[in-house]
Amino acid sequence: MSIMFNGIGVSKGIAIGQAYLFYREQPEVPEYTIDESRLDNEIERFYRARNRAQQQLVDIKEKISSDVPQDITQFIDTNLLMLDDPILCEDTIKHLKQRSCNAEWALQAQCDRLVKIFDDMDDPYLKTRKDDIIHVVQRIQRCLASDNEDMPVSEEEQLKGRIIIADDLTPADTLLMQHQKIAGFITEYGGPLSHTAILARNLGIPAIIGVHNAKQLIQASEKLVLDGHRGMIIANADRRTISHFRGLKKDEKLRRKNLFDLKNKPTITTDKHKIILLGNIDRPADVRTLRQFDHTGVGLYRTEMLFIHRNEYPTEEEQFDTYRRALRALKGHPLTIRTSDLGADKELEDSLQHGPLAHNPAMGLRAIRRCLKEPRQFMRQLRAILRAGAYGPVCMMIPMLTCVSELDQTFELIEQAKNELKKQKIRFDPNLQIGAMIEVPAAALSAHTFAEKLDFLSIGTNDLIQYTLALDRIDDEVSYLYKPLHPSVLKLIDLTLQAGTSAGIPVSMCGEMASDSQYTRLLLGMGLKCFSVQANSLLDIKHIINHSNLNKLVPKVSELLKLAHVNDIECGVDALNREFS
Ligand code: PEP
Ligand code: MG
Repeated sequence: MSIMFNGIGVSKGIAIGQAYLFYREQPEVPEYTIDESRLDNEIERFYRARNRAQQQLVDIKEKISSDVPQDITQFIDTNLLMLDDPILCEDTIKHLKQRSCNAEWALQAQCDRLVKIFDDMDDPYLKTRKDDIIHVVQRIQRCLASDNEDMPVSEEEQLKGRIIIADDLTPADTLLMQHQKIAGFITEYGGPLSHTAILARNLGIPAIIGVHNAKQLIQASEKLVLDGHRGMIIANADRRTISHFRGLKKDEKLRRKNLFDLKNKPTITTDKHKIILLGNIDRPADVRTLRQFDHTGVGLYRTEMLFIHRNEYPTEEEQFDTYRRALRALKGHPLTIRTSDLGADKELEDSLQHGPLAHNPAMGLRAIRRCLKEPRQFMRQLRAILRAGAYGPVCMMIPMLTCVSELDQTFELIEQAKNELKKQKIRFDPNLQIGAMIEVPAAALSAHTFAEKLDFLSIGTNDLIQYTLALDRIDDEVSYLYKPLHPSVLKLIDLTLQAGTSAGIPVSMCGEMASDSQYTRLLLGMGLKCFSVQANSLLDIKHIINHSNLNKLVPKVSELLKLAHVNDIECGVDALNREFS
């Protein structure tokens, strides 16, 4: 019998495949006694699992492309070293022999001992190494658990074409799994604007989140249909249902193929208004994906990937090299580098944290607040961006400004960085354009003051919606409050657009709202002239823009903006989309 259940669809697309239950937390570890005469067999079983774990990692390492973030390759290398470490293997065998117990239990006992040693250490860096031990042990445990099953050897083969069911995934998990060619993923927790959800959309992986108890509801290897558009999962679907969804998948593929006629064509409305269409990236390698859809520039380079999942800050040189790589790949198109927006959903490793974790990190020391608190680290990034500017069209963008004094402090640091570079005779762009993200209601309400001091503004709707509607963007329990068409949100967008017009500076939008084609006509009618979107949405958005007429949209949209209720605005936008599609 098939069962259907729902979650929050965060990345469109249909996936059909077998479920793969992904355990980050401790899988159940069985304990039983092994007869003396069978101890050698049990030891052999342990080494077989260890070797298999090793082979899986070697396979992943060989197959991932060279431009995956450094933290992923480092993570694999450390895990490989640990798999070879006698302290893990030989001590496990000793325990197994002494206690005459099964390999899983002996390994767990050794893992607990090592974790305790790491916990007792004072050095915060070494403390975090315990996570590596846990990862490695869990990998061997999974191999032990599947020892008697007819499972393929390489993890890539295990994951290829599968739909991953996990409690939650980190952005690094998501990247690694994309390289392993998963069909889609379902998580129990997370919000539609979490970095992982955004990454899934960017990578084109169909995904559903917020399916509580998914790991209880879905069995390993069960055949699933995942519809990321509707947020629907069908487990154990019958043949007719599968063939229906295969048909939908085929139609979507064809629709997207036809969109490729727009590749590299101008983005212009039917009444000849030129619109700028840019892409969002997380890493230089994403430029390649962007170019598969369109040859365009970058309106938002989220630099956090350079900082997260590692135990030391990147040096100025590493940052400079990374930005230059992105610039080279863009072949003359502009690159907007956002200074680091760390904290909340893009958190650093524990070893780089200053104090105890904040109770309310989204409201805490995030983004520019954290940068200003750590001026030495910030200086490295400012210098790296200024230097990259000497090699191509680079702009710098400051996230999460709340008050003008933060901007003034940032300007002072930029000046200081320029003076240092000048003294050291290092090339940089003295006229680098500096803009800011408007993503806090306070900044939108004061957008005119910011606009007077800056070269451009960019609206970050993900945070603007989070802070305006007081909903945690990574908490699926409140995702029902995510209403981009809430009149308050629209008012703040409108104020920002007006501030840009009065100051004569461009305003773009780089939040997810810009990537969602159901809002394109509304935003055009509100006066937005620059969209920075997910690579995957580029051609969808271009298609709508190139079939829109601003003269017709503007009066309709100004009527919509007078409405007081979100439901009425939603109906109005639906009607607008139907009328002009
Ligand atoms: C935003 O807030 O809209 C945005 C683009 O920034 P991020 O999602 O990286 O916080
Ligand atoms: Mg933001």
